[in-house]
Amino acid sequence: MTLKYKRILLKFSGEALMGDGDFGLEAKTLHRVVGQVKELHDLGVEIGIVVGGGNIFRGAQIQGSGIARTTGDHMGMMATVINALALRDVIESFGMKSQILSAMSIEGISSGFNANTVKKQLADGEVLVFAAGTGSPFFTTDTAAALRGIEIDADIVLKATKVDGIYTADPVKDLTATRYKSLTYNEVIQKNLQVMDMTAFVLCRDHNMPIRVFDMFKDNAVIRIVKGGDEGTLVSSGE
Ligand code: UDP
Repeated sequence: MTLKYKRILLKFSGEALMGDGDFGLEAKTLHRVVGQVKELHDLGVEIGIVVGGGNIFRGAQIQGSGIARTTGDHMGMMATVINALALRDVIESFGMKSQILSAMSIEGISSGFNANTVKKQLADGEVLVFAAGTGSPFFTTDTAAALRGIEIDADIVLKATKVDGIYTADPVKDLTATRYKSLTYNEVIQKNLQVMDMTAFVLCRDHNMPIRVFDMFKDNAVIRIVKGGDEGTLVSSGE
């Protein structure tokens, strides 16, 4: 079977893992997400995952509390490590080999990121979870996804959201909003579409890394994407 995308960088926000709750992790949701990862893996897709931490903590939320923003961001990055630990175990419980590679060194829990080694591990069928974002405050895990995607020579960055793509306006608030099938990087930047942060888009633009924004909970959407299907919204150079 021919795959359009052989190596992918999959980005989940922390919120994607919390199910119907408003904090933390839900086992049922974790299993659902990893079930999709398993299907990708069975197809022979090489999978690197960047996971967010917004279901636990975001640095910006402590503003004015006496905790410095950089400390808050360190806390946010630690939150991504908590999610990565859960993901790694569930991935292994589905019979896949997995490892956490963290941008912050946490001895005994994770290893560091080395793009050269990572490419070999991916080629060997390991599902790798990249934790702690970029390792630097003032960034987000969307930027980490763009960065890791470029570093591992992924064919595409797949950003899983609750909505099935990028819309002209927030489809929850505006019923007339319509979905873009495709956009160029510059269109996203000019229209200031708030689906990923601009640093991530600029990085992808400068390295010609396509991004597809899709709904992780739409059955088999991610499988259709790797086979070349037209799910969600594609952001690319347009060429
Ligand atoms: N964070 C950071 N640098 C990074 C990535 C993340 O400082 O490179 C911090 C930041 O405080 C952020 C939090 O970690 O709010 C959780 O990441 P993010 O908000 O991207 O998670 P998501 O919204 O995807 O769940």
